[in-house]
Amino acid sequence: MGIFAEYAQLLVEVGVNIQPGQNLVINSPVDCAWFARLCAKAAYAAGCREVIMKWGDDELARERFLHARDDVFDAFPDWQAAFHNGYAREGAAFLNISATNPENLLGVDPDRLVRAQRSAGAAIQEYRNLQMSNAVPWCVASIPIPSWASKVFPDCPGEEAMEKLWDAIFQAIRITGDGGAVARWRQHLDTLAARVEKLNSLRLESLRFTNSLGTDLTIRLPEDHLWAGGGSKTLSGVPFIANIPTEEIFTAPLRDGVDGVVYASMPLVHNGSVIDGFHMEVKAGKIAAVHAKTGEDVLKAAISLDEGASRFGEVALVPYESPISRQGLLYYNTLFDENASCHLAFGEAYPECIRDGARLSEDERKARGLNTSITHVDFMVGTADLDIWGRTRDGQEVPVFQKGNFAL
Ligand code: ZN
Ligand code: ZN
Repeated sequence: MGIFAEYAQLLVEVGVNIQPGQNLVINSPVDCAWFARLCAKAAYAAGCREVIMKWGDDELARERFLHARDDVFDAFPDWQAAFHNGYAREGAAFLNISATNPENLLGVDPDRLVRAQRSAGAAIQEYRNLQMSNAVPWCVASIPIPSWASKVFPDCPGEEAMEKLWDAIFQAIRITGDGGAVARWRQHLDTLAARVEKLNSLRLESLRFTNSLGTDLTIRLPEDHLWAGGGSKTLSGVPFIANIPTEEIFTAPLRDGVDGVVYASMPLVHNGSVIDGFHMEVKAGKIAAVHAKTGEDVLKAAISLDEGASRFGEVALVPYESPISRQGLLYYNTLFDENASCHLAFGEAYPECIRDGARLSEDERKARGLNTSITHVDFMVGTADLDIWGRTRDGQEVPVFQKGNFAL
């Protein structure tokens, strides 16, 4: 089997872990059709009932956001809502191939993006809830496309940039072409599971992040919070991996329990724009002010999407010495950059981050301290000198991170 087929098989059999008779929805850019076909073949070989394609295209998305009639962004088509909600309701698996030009929507009116997200958020809420609570298996993974590769390797000619990005991705996802990727992933998931267990046993009350960028942020955690990471399980008990690669363990901050200042340590690609050189002031869980050198309007729009968009939904720990971080690359793609760095997310918290969370309604989760929103945006805060102190419920101070790496 070739290396690309091995990758497709990893995504289908370990990523979404397709079950005999199950439908698979693949969301892919048209540029990546050849790889989507490999995934479809792997899915049918594993007993998939039907592969359903949802195609995307950067250039058409840009044309639409620039030139479609303005009222388009206030209405999400019924048939598209039925597509997402319907396949999620019946328990299909969702594979998302994430490959985009990081600056595809540069210059688009942020108000159009916000309105499009709001109307989609309302229309496909059922799908989003089922996905966020792991009722359906889902997996996000990437392959290079030229516009993205040349942003990561600006000094290389097109072909060479593509090759370099492929090499970097294969290294990041532990594929060497020897057919051993699945075994390496099982071992890696065990490492992450051990970290999750360690953090859960500490029953921390809060975390305090400090570094020389100027970050000094205290994050209180819900009383019955849970750490998660590596492998997930659907409500019916089928294991899957939501992100390939994944190096993080994460939990949910207390909705109104975050205070201080936090500086981003990497640019953030969001809604087709790069947001860079930014920091946030946070009071009682709410982002009170943001300042960015680049893309401040996009960032402000992103945190104003709904009430929960200006509160935090995730705190994730990734050692500075993680394999992806050691590559020293800026991927301009959150799937990779978040796995090279400790990060936070504003917006929705994952229900699995609180005991029995997947069985709770949105209001119940909120009452237990979890944030809810139609958005969830990770941004990177880890540095080589990041210290994180944990405070236990009986008042002990525990070093969680020292100089960017796990101290536990
Ligand atoms: Zn994360
Ligand atoms: Zn996240």
